[in-house]
Amino acid sequence: MAMQIQTGTSELKDVTKMERIGAHSHIRGLGLDDRLEPRQNSQGLVGQAKARKAAGMILKMVQEGKIAGRAMLFAGPPSTGKTAIAMGMAQSLGQDVPFTMIAASEVFSLSMSKTEALTQAFRRSIGVRIKEETELIEGQVVEIQIDRSLTGATKTGKLTIKTTDMETVYDLGTKMIESLTKEKVLAGDVIAIDKTSGKVTKLGRSVAMSRDYDAMGADTKFVQCPEGEIQKRKEVIHTVSLHEIDVINSRTQGFLALFAGDTGEIKPELRAQINTKVADWREEGKAEVVPGVLFIDEVHMLDIECFSFLNRALESELSPLVVMASNRGMARIRGTKYKSPHGLPVDLLDRVLIVSTKPYEEEDIQQIIQIRCQEEDVSLTPDALTVLTSMSKQTTLRYALNLISCGRVLARKRKSENVDVEDLRRAYTYFMDEKRSVQWLKEQQGTLVF
Ligand code: ATP
Repeated sequence: MAMQIQTGTSELKDVTKMERIGAHSHIRGLGLDDRLEPRQNSQGLVGQAKARKAAGMILKMVQEGKIAGRAMLFAGPPSTGKTAIAMGMAQSLGQDVPFTMIAASEVFSLSMSKTEALTQAFRRSIGVRIKEETELIEGQVVEIQIDRSLTGATKTGKLTIKTTDMETVYDLGTKMIESLTKEKVLAGDVIAIDKTSGKVTKLGRSVAMSRDYDAMGADTKFVQCPEGEIQKRKEVIHTVSLHEIDVINSRTQGFLALFAGDTGEIKPELRAQINTKVADWREEGKAEVVPGVLFIDEVHMLDIECFSFLNRALESELSPLVVMASNRGMARIRGTKYKSPHGLPVDLLDRVLIVSTKPYEEEDIQQIIQIRCQEEDVSLTPDALTVLTSMSKQTTLRYALNLISCGRVLARKRKSENVDVEDLRRAYTYFMDEKRSVQWLKEQQGTLVF
């Protein structure tokens, strides 16, 4: 059956990069130098040198396409930066390389099967770079008239642009008006209009104009015009994920489902058709496949069925790099009665590169706390920094970092701009860390009914 595959590239851009998690928003990369050596404190990451270097080497292998069929596992105690380093990897990938992050427990949901959830996560992590030819017209704006009397959905107007040797008047539709408004185009600007999508890009503003614009009328003739041909064909490259292509082409869905995050199950036949189409595009030189990264946190929460799915999926030619994280040592493989390192079956462990993360030294903890304070715009007194560092050693780094914003609320209440020891002490009594919470539950056993 012949099928028209839509890529929806005009509606979709950077959907895959929209996810951002507050706790790691200070991380901008892996902080490595050109020789992949980790700098002590760079791009928001501190210490954990071996793990960062290993992550950098693996990324390089991904970029060189040399890591097919393998996966990576960050293993280490809680709060030792496993997720943070994975975020650093994501930031180091190119802008259009997809990075997907899931917690293993998200796979178990009532709305779709485990394998469907994993398939969607895999396909979100594979980008398709699609080349499109489009006709661009470049010119300088002479006059824009928008009919402001028309409200609501339809708006009309006219745009006069001057190219090298002629002046042309265009009829404007609502979409183009939106685009002109978004780009804040004024008379005198040099713009490019994409004839296929109606999208306008501002290329620059004439120097002569910006000075005299207010004094001159909008219909003044301008001297400066872009060089070159009036109409040019240009190649535009969009990247969408395989999952986005699936959803847009799924008859029951439509691209809006992507934003609602509620995509439901997608039929295997549709995926097969899309795979074939993408393979054709690759052959014709119209598209390129970009394997990205799928990060699965708390991977020991997956069960044996999920693990066999992973094993098979990693074999596929269209597999992203799978990065997993676990803070368990020997653990039972869910769905079996066997124990295994990190709760992973041996056949999967066999193809995994394991990178361990270690507890932090005091100096590293201090630097991480300082980075988070900068990120959250909080100022800590030197004493408070010492206290928070020691709290982190007794509890976890994550707990200590959470106290920063609580401390700020308490400091503000007493009308101070600086978080001091007293604020942290109070925050510590309001919010329990895991150890104290477990202790409290033990003490209450017998008196509590759940
Ligand atoms: P868990 O096993 O509990 O999931 P984890 O090892 O994934 O823990 P993270 O969530 O990465 O730990 O770290 C806890 C907090 O500390 C996060 O806010 C993280 O951004 C920050 N952090 C951890 N390590 C570093 C580091 N090396 N440099 C900067 N920030 C870090």
